Amino acid sequence: MLNINTRNLVKATVPVLKEHGVALTRHFYARMFLHNPELKPVFNQGNQQSGSQQQALAMAVLAYAEHIDDPSVLMPVLTLVANKHVSVGIRAEHYPVVGMHLLASIKEVLGDAASDELLAAWAAAYGQLADILIAQESAIYAKAAMTSGGWTGWRGFIVSKKVVESEEITSFYLQPADGGSVPDYKPGQYISVKVFVPELGMMQPRQYSLSCAPGQAYLRISVKREAAMATKPAGLVSNVLHRDCHEGALIDVAPPMGDYVLHEDRDTPVVLISAGVGVTPKLAMLEHLLKQNTRRKIRFVHACRHGGVHAFKQQVRELSEQYGQIKSLTYYEVPRAEDLQSIDYDQQGRLDLQTVASDFILPEADYYICGPRPFMQAQIASLQSLGITSARIHKEAFGSGGFAH
Ligand code: FAD
Repeated sequence: MLNINTRNLVKATVPVLKEHGVALTRHFYARMFLHNPELKPVFNQGNQQSGSQQQALAMAVLAYAEHIDDPSVLMPVLTLVANKHVSVGIRAEHYPVVGMHLLASIKEVLGDAASDELLAAWAAAYGQLADILIAQESAIYAKAAMTSGGWTGWRGFIVSKKVVESEEITSFYLQPADGGSVPDYKPGQYISVKVFVPELGMMQPRQYSLSCAPGQAYLRISVKREAAMATKPAGLVSNVLHRDCHEGALIDVAPPMGDYVLHEDRDTPVVLISAGVGVTPKLAMLEHLLKQNTRRKIRFVHACRHGGVHAFKQQVRELSEQYGQIKSLTYYEVPRAEDLQSIDYDQQGRLDLQTVASDFILPEADYYICGPRPFMQAQIASLQSLGITSARIHKEAFGSGGFAH
C-alpha cells in the first residue's frame, strides 16, 4: 500500500490528467517507440494511428489516479488488460522500460509542474500497478502452459481451410504446424494472431474470438475485413488475413485468453446479443451449449446492416429449427431489395432491447453482449432499464483498452 502522502500527490494530478491525459500518452508512445523501436511490433499500430490506444491509456492512467486509495476496484479491468498483455507477449521485463518512458513523459509534458516529489509519487504508483499486473500475468502464463494442448508465447499454426461467411467476414481454420494438440479453451475466449504487415514492414498482433466450440481438431477465427472508408484507412491485419493468408499459410498464434466466457456452472437461460462481427464468440457459446446437451433456454439476438453481411445465418437458422430451446431474432438495419422476402431476418431497423418480445428478455438469464462500443452501451443501458443487474450482463468490446466502457 502506498503511503498517504504519495496517494495524495497522485490524486492531485487528476485534474491535469483529465485535461492533458491524451497529450501525455501521445508523448509517451512517441517517446517509447523512438527510443525502443523493438517494441513497435508488440503494440497494435492500427490503434496507434487511430489514436484509440492513446485515449485508452489516458483513461487507464486517470482511473488509476482516481482509485489510488483502493486500486482493487479496478481489478475486473486489470484482469482484462493482463489477459491482453499475455496474448501479445508482454513480459515482466517490459515494465521498467514502459515505466521509464511514462515518468520521463510526465516530466516533459508537465514541465515545472512536475516536481521531484510528484515524480517520486508517480514512480511508486507505477511500481505498485506494475507489480499487480506482473503477478496476474505470470499466473495467466502459467495457466496457459498447463492447459491441455497449451503453450506460452507464439506457436505456428497452418491455415487449413478458409471459408467465406459473408461479403466481409471470412473464417480461418487453424491447425498446429507442429502436429501437436489443439488447446482447450472456454467458449468466448480469443486468440492473438501475428502476421507480417507489408505496409508497416513489421509483424503485428490482433485478437480474434474463437468462433467455434472447443474440442475440435482446429481453432477457428472469423475475421471482418475492415475496408477503407471516407474517414479512415483500411484495417491493416484484417486485410492481410483476407488478402494474403491462403490455405497452407503459416501464422503465429498466442494461446486462448480472456475472461468473457460462458458461465458453465449455471443453469440460467442464456441470451446472446451481438452486432456485426460480434457474433463470433456467441457461435462458440451456442455450439458448446448444444454439444453439452444443455437444457438451458437460449436466445440468439443479432443485428447487422443487411443480408449481404449477415454471416452464419444458415447455421443459426438450422440450429434454431433443430433445437426447440433456441429462439433467434435478427435485425437488418437497411435491408437490400433482395432481402425483403428473406426469412433470414425478423425486423427492420436497429435493435432496441426495450421493444423486443418479452420472450427474449428473461429476468433470470445471463446476457452476453458483443459488438461495437456504441451498440454495447445502448444494449447495456436498455437491459439495466429493464431491471437486469450488472452481474448478469457480460460484455466483450473488440477495441483497445478496457477503461472506456
Ligand atoms: P487496424 O489497422 O488495427 O485499424 C483499426 C481501425 O482503426 C480500422 O477501422 C481503421 O480504419 C481505423 N484507423 C486506422 N488508422 C486510422 C486513422 N489514422 N484515423 C482513423 N481511423 C483509423 N475482429 C474480427 O473481425 N473478428 C473477431 O472475432 C474479433 N474478435 C476480437 C476479440 C477481441 C478480444 C478484440 C480486442 C478484438 C477482436 N476483433 C475481432 C477486432 C480485431 O482484433 C481487430 O481490431 C480488427 O480486425 C481490425 O484490425 P486491423 O488490423 O484490420 O485494423
